[in-house]
Amino acid sequence: MSNSLQNAMFEEFSRKAIFEQAQQYGFEYLDAVRERNVFPTEAAIGNLEHFIEPVPAESSNASEVIAMLHKYGAPATLPMSGGRYFGFVNGGVVPAAMAAKHLSTFWDQNSAMYALSPLASKLESVVEKWLQQLLGLPGETVAGYVSGTSSANLCALAAARWRILNNLGWDINEQGLNGAPKLRIVAGKEAHSTVIKAIAMLGLGKGNIEWAATDTQGRIIAETLPLIDNHTILVLQAGNVNSGSFDPFKAILQQAKDTGAWVHIDGAFGLWAAAVEELKHLTEGMELAHSWAVDGHKTLNTPYDCGIVLCRDKEAITSALHMTGSYIIKSETERDGMYYTPEMSRRARIIELWAAIKYLGKAGIDEMILGLHQRAVQFAREIKQVEGFSVLNDVVFNQVVVCCETDEQTETVLQRIQELRTCWAGGAYWQNRRIIRVSVCSWATTEEDISRSVASFKEAFALV
Ligand SMILES: *Cc1c(COP(=O)(O)O)cnc(C)c1O
Repeated sequence: MSNSLQNAMFEEFSRKAIFEQAQQYGFEYLDAVRERNVFPTEAAIGNLEHFIEPVPAESSNASEVIAMLHKYGAPATLPMSGGRYFGFVNGGVVPAAMAAKHLSTFWDQNSAMYALSPLASKLESVVEKWLQQLLGLPGETVAGYVSGTSSANLCALAAARWRILNNLGWDINEQGLNGAPKLRIVAGKEAHSTVIKAIAMLGLGKGNIEWAATDTQGRIIAETLPLIDNHTILVLQAGNVNSGSFDPFKAILQQAKDTGAWVHIDGAFGLWAAAVEELKHLTEGMELAHSWAVDGHKTLNTPYDCGIVLCRDKEAITSALHMTGSYIIKSETERDGMYYTPEMSRRARIIELWAAIKYLGKAGIDEMILGLHQRAVQFAREIKQVEGFSVLNDVVFNQVVVCCETDEQTETVLQRIQELRTCWAGGAYWQNRRIIRVSVCSWATTEEDISRSVASFKEAFALV
């Protein structure tokens, strides 16, 4: 590196002007976020063309780099931390968690092992215990802090594959899948696509999935479940991605008990119901499973890139994700996070997760998540009063499935809603119908936001 480039970078660190500049832009963004368009305008999207250029030949001015992001980047973002974004299942951001992330940016920690970040190691251990308590999971449950539930599902199913084959006398790590005893995979017909992707990635074959029948809410019908045995990985769901419904864990887990099967629960957003007094009946019996996947960045409203794999079988998950090397420093007494994740180097996402839970506390988590449910119930109640709309699901959690009389009408109304940009909802096909999905997942959604959004649905319908 030339002396001048190194000096320029030392200079940025000592002047701090670019950090103040970035923060100022961030503050401007926050001030406007509640009234921002819920989707970028055509012009903002058009301006993304400014990013298309050859690799910059020379080093440039740091302040201009940041200014360019502000000028062309910010207008093309979606206001996740506002109150009227109901697309997919997206969380808002708890301010204390956002500020913790901001601070930890300056630390730039690698949380692979204790030797790299004693802080991250300690917070990961503390939060593991907190999660056991909040979600009512067994005391031996371990946690891996991953990027999201896609990764958490993959890790949990890798642990399941390791354990079941190990029980059958087969070492998957050494012997691989060729010639291994055949595993059975049982999943509900409405299992999330990331579960199916994980099954494919693990070499178990989507085509081998034995599909369990589901009811009108998307829940597995326990009585029709295929017989499960010690070759079986059974995947259940806490929170159907459309309807928000929960599989009947108690009935199913009683059937699975003592069979030698492994039961995994995909609870990306729904697992948090277990932390809410009024909603925890939805998750009754789930503590009998072997592994669980959940996101911080959805229902708990941490910043993005925060998923957690929880597993009661520490040997299985650490064996499935095992790696070693002579340069690795394994702590004798403290947690080395990389044994619970696919990655080695990872940013210390635990800092935001810790801050969210530390700030909210048990009572705050209960209040915030119950609030999401109440806003969803409000949406369903108000939209049912509007001519032309009906609600297809029982609103047990934070999801509302809305449709019009015909699929064509639903589709056109959805397009109008998106064009109006007062609120944003996405579409899907569910139970053979074209639907509008409304996911209330941000603490920032108020009763007024819900009423404004319902009014926008009404306006959209009138335009068709
Ligand atoms: C969102 C979601 C996932 C995937 O989680 P990511 O954090 O986006 O990887 C998996 N399952 C369900 C039910 C989900 O809602």
